[in-house]
Amino acid sequence: MKKITIIGGGISGLVARYRLSQVPDVEVTLYEKSERLGGCIESLQDPYFFEMGPRTIKASRSEDLLKLIQQLDLETEIIYSSKHAKKRYLWVDQKLQAIPSLLPPLLPALFNEWRRPALIDSDESIASFAKRRFGTYGAETFFDPLTRGIFGGDMNTLSISACFPELKALEQTYGSLTRALIKKKREKKPKGLFTLKGGLQTLVDRLVKRGKGKIHLSTPIEALPEGETVIALPVREGAKLFQDDQKALSFFKSVPTISLTVVNVAFKGETLVPQGFGYLVPSKERENILGVVFDSSIFPMQNREKETRLTVMLRDGGEREALFALKKHLSICKIPDRVHVKTYPYAVPQYCVGHLERVEAFEAHLKEHYPHITCIGNYLRGVSLNACVKSL
Ligand SMILES: Cc1cc2nc3c(=O)[nH]c(=O)nc-3n(C[C@H](O)[C@H](O)[C@H](O)COP(=O)(O)OP(=O)(O)OC[C@H]3O[C@@H](n4cnc5c(N)ncnc54)[C@H](O)[C@@H]3O)c2cc1C
Repeated sequence: MKKITIIGGGISGLVARYRLSQVPDVEVTLYEKSERLGGCIESLQDPYFFEMGPRTIKASRSEDLLKLIQQLDLETEIIYSSKHAKKRYLWVDQKLQAIPSLLPPLLPALFNEWRRPALIDSDESIASFAKRRFGTYGAETFFDPLTRGIFGGDMNTLSISACFPELKALEQTYGSLTRALIKKKREKKPKGLFTLKGGLQTLVDRLVKRGKGKIHLSTPIEALPEGETVIALPVREGAKLFQDDQKALSFFKSVPTISLTVVNVAFKGETLVPQGFGYLVPSKERENILGVVFDSSIFPMQNREKETRLTVMLRDGGEREALFALKKHLSICKIPDRVHVKTYPYAVPQYCVGHLERVEAFEAHLKEHYPHITCIGNYLRGVSLNACVKSL
């Protein structure tokens, strides 16, 4: 019987456990530092439904996750976003604006983008890519808030090839993103966003149930174990296991992280105008928050009654800053019925320019010096749940 150790009980570690327990003659043992499984994923019913961590999954980019959901017999739990969720907003010039209303100043850049040659091969920052293709207005109004919304980060330092590989690939294949978007619109891919009825915790619980092997909670691992091991840790925790290896350490250090605070707020009644997915805030607006997700509007099936559930994402600050933003941006002055605040310290890895090359060198180093070790997790090739599921 081959013994395999897994370190970390987030989605990456739990998927590894599930997959390895389907291999004959393998005995898996998982160690988790905290007293619960799921890592960033945490759904709560109090009495409103709150998703504290990840909440929306893009159907068109989640083939691996959808396949896993099928294998776990959770297909009937899938719920898709409402038609309102197509409406997205930005807080620009001190007002909430629907994205289409911000497009006219971009039209000349879109027209030019069609004819602008692609830059082959080399990596560059998201800002450099966006400015090169869509000009400063396009970069600052659309790419900056997108980067903040997904990575909480700065488009001037993050890598286009690592953060948005699909955009880089479209440029390479079609020579222009505008042309690519027109061509791809005709493709029949699943559209919209989805989640699971009882929240993403359902996925965690089912993975735990269907996987085999012992799980040790409240058991932090602080040194590299002997024998075959899958390390499914956040980047800063992973680094601690390679303290004596300068080459590995320099890779871990090349991936800085940012902490996020998530403020879940519920109000009695339908307080939200307008309906939609939510809004992001470009950094030039100099606001405290990164954006707000309109949970009760995206997935109304998760509402208990007539209610408004919102999630405010911040890098700094907490409940006070979140409620201030809701008042200023959405004119919601009511006292909330419930508020939950959770900080995710050092949770979001930042893929700086050149990241993918460094990942390849790190993996080659592991293969040569630690053939019994596999590293997986959100600091390598994607932060989305789909990327984590795909990585083993
Ligand atoms: C607020 C937030 C919102 C997000 N929203 C979305 C979204 O809408 N859609 C999407 O696709 N993605 C989203 N993401 C990204 C996604 O949730 C994460 O990338 C993913 O959950 C990471 O999973 P993981 O298992 O790799 O790491 P983690 O979830 O961080 O799990 C790592 C586990 O390792 C444990 N651990 C740490 N140290 C040790 C140790 N020494 N020994 C043993 N165990 C240890 C931790 O306790 C933890 O349980 C979001 C992330 C955050 C933080």
